[in-house]
Amino acid sequence: MQLVVLDDDQAVAELLASVGVSSGWAVHAVVREDEFQALVSASPPDAIMLDLQLANSDGVEQLHFLHDRQYTGAIVLMSGFDARVLSSAQQIGGSLGLNIIAALEKPARPVRVREVLAQIARVPAVGVTAPADARATTTVISADEVGQAVSAGRMELHLQPIIAAASRTVRRAEALIRWRDPARGLVGPDEFIPVAEQDGAVIDRLTMWVAETGVSHYRRLAQMGSGIQICINISGRNLWSQDFPDRMAGVLERHAVPQGALGLEITESVAMHDLDATTSVLTRLRLKGFPVAIDDFGTGHSSLIALRRMPFSSVKIDKSFVGELETSKDSLTIVRSVIQMAHEMGLTSVAEGVGTADAAQLLTELGIDGLQGYYYSEPLPFSGFAAWLKDWAEAGNGPAH
Ligand code: C2E
Ligand code: MG
Ligand code: MG
Repeated sequence: MQLVVLDDDQAVAELLASVGVSSGWAVHAVVREDEFQALVSASPPDAIMLDLQLANSDGVEQLHFLHDRQYTGAIVLMSGFDARVLSSAQQIGGSLGLNIIAALEKPARPVRVREVLAQIARVPAVGVTAPADARATTTVISADEVGQAVSAGRMELHLQPIIAAASRTVRRAEALIRWRDPARGLVGPDEFIPVAEQDGAVIDRLTMWVAETGVSHYRRLAQMGSGIQICINISGRNLWSQDFPDRMAGVLERHAVPQGALGLEITESVAMHDLDATTSVLTRLRLKGFPVAIDDFGTGHSSLIALRRMPFSSVKIDKSFVGELETSKDSLTIVRSVIQMAHEMGLTSVAEGVGTADAAQLLTELGIDGLQGYYYSEPLPFSGFAAWLKDWAEAGNGPAH
């Protein structure tokens, strides 16, 4: 097995080389980036040990080099920097599609290096077959096609329950769109919403369909005895039209359902587009009685400004933080602070992506208002959701109405 070590500290490079050799590897240890790149280009080794601080560049640049070369072997990162820098570099490598086996804090103990090398030797690195961004060759979707699919009745609006943490009742559900296409199968919103948003008329038609269908779900659930607010996702582009609040209120009137039948969710990055225009539309939506949540909170670039400037009624904490609650002290701190901040500002808080009983318990202790995630239920078609609600109530949880 071939190993290449790049560390700008000659003594460290030599030490790692001797550990490698004593573990049965053929090792090239180098201190300069150009030597490293020449070696890897000439003959890609089975594994690379890469220091993050180098003399003339940094480890992240070298990761990009390895990505460009489509290197598929194992990579071990090393750094004397704090653990946070190391773990960020590891994430960067992962998102470049590289096979990062370990991230070692320096000085790395020889016994740990030996363990990692043994691990690589045991499971020959298969690496990645394609770079992360080389998606499967699905046919490109156009905005027109999405518009036609809406008109042809090929969209479905699935429902995912939001559990009130204190009472364990279900008074709200998020509506999530899916496209059932004869050729492509069930297509998720991340694949076609961004396309639809390129055409103002298409995203408008789509959102109005979602609102109408959401209201019809609301009515059917109410007839079954469950008063459940349906929370629909609004695209930022919808907020460019000043008459959007009137059209939304019109849907409620046409179907004679009460204020509060629909809740709205808006992704924060999108909410930031044109602060003044968006604030005015959001304010009018609130005045017409619509609750408005800021969605994926924590992932946009100006979350706090959006929160201060715009009249949101609820904060949905992004699932990337919620998913890491039990493993990352930083994520726990962020979630705890966001819940507290929301409450002090008079907003309710909802956690998305709740995946385990422990996470639900922890969030409840932190004072979260609403819980949503696969732990309770995936988004379900209407009939599945209605059945889930019945089971939930029968299992002795708070009444669903
Ligand atoms: P979102 O509004 O943040 O919705 C939550 C997403 O998290 C949904 O993905 C949901 O299926 C997923 N999810 C729920 N629980 C869990 C969990 O425990 N773990 C994990 N990993 N994921 C969970 P989905 O349905 O694929 O929707 C993706 C995004 O597409 C939504 O994110 C929303 O921004 C957008 N979207 C969905 N429906 C619509 C719509 O009708 N109109 C617009 N404009 N956007 C929509
Ligand atoms: Mg949402
Ligand atoms: Mg979200």
